[in-house]
Amino acid sequence: MKEIVLNHPLVKHKITVLRNEKTSVKEFRELISEIASILCYEAMRDAQLHDHKVKTPMGETIGKKIEENDYAFVPILRAGMGMVDGVISMIPGARIGHIGLYRNEETLEPIEYYCKLPENIENKHVFLLDPMLATGGSGSAAITKLKERGVKKITFLCVIAAPEGINRIKKDHKDVKIYCANLDEKLNEIGYIVPGLGDAGDRIYGTK
Ligand code: URA
Repeated sequence: MKEIVLNHPLVKHKITVLRNEKTSVKEFRELISEIASILCYEAMRDAQLHDHKVKTPMGETIGKKIEENDYAFVPILRAGMGMVDGVISMIPGARIGHIGLYRNEETLEPIEYYCKLPENIENKHVFLLDPMLATGGSGSAAITKLKERGVKKITFLCVIAAPEGINRIKKDHKDVKIYCANLDEKLNEIGYIVPGLGDAGDRIYGTK
């Protein structure tokens, strides 16, 4: 499945401000959230609709609605949490799960330390959230976990992706659609995206 890279002047503008090392924690957090909303908006383009009768002050019409409860957002802790406000503003009735993975800094392999997912997740369209798709190790492990729980439809939303990460997800999970706001150049020798924006978690939470 071909990845979707958002190609919009406003997104390019926001990504540039996000990258700037001088951008404050507050602005960084707001931008991650805004970009997450835009990613969600784009990823919902083909969402299923059903008819819904609605009475306006002027009369009645048949409108269209999505079934909000059919969707779940699953941030990969901790940086993925920075995207939750943005996506939930788009689908307020969606459920939220959490998967905690950290990278072994030597092997760069993901290790799971937390997993709490909504009931009936197997019947929902799950949006996996991680601002940085770097090696793809954590993303791939999180997708495996979701599939083990019976999830059939998974979409990966990330802010910045490296080609290595995209290729890893495509190789391991060819049924998963990836949306990223920007596709960067490469990974460096310690698994960070270049030019990237540094450590997304540290910048969202101000921990460094
Ligand atoms: N995680 C980050 O926060 N930044 C990177 O560049 C890679 C992984």
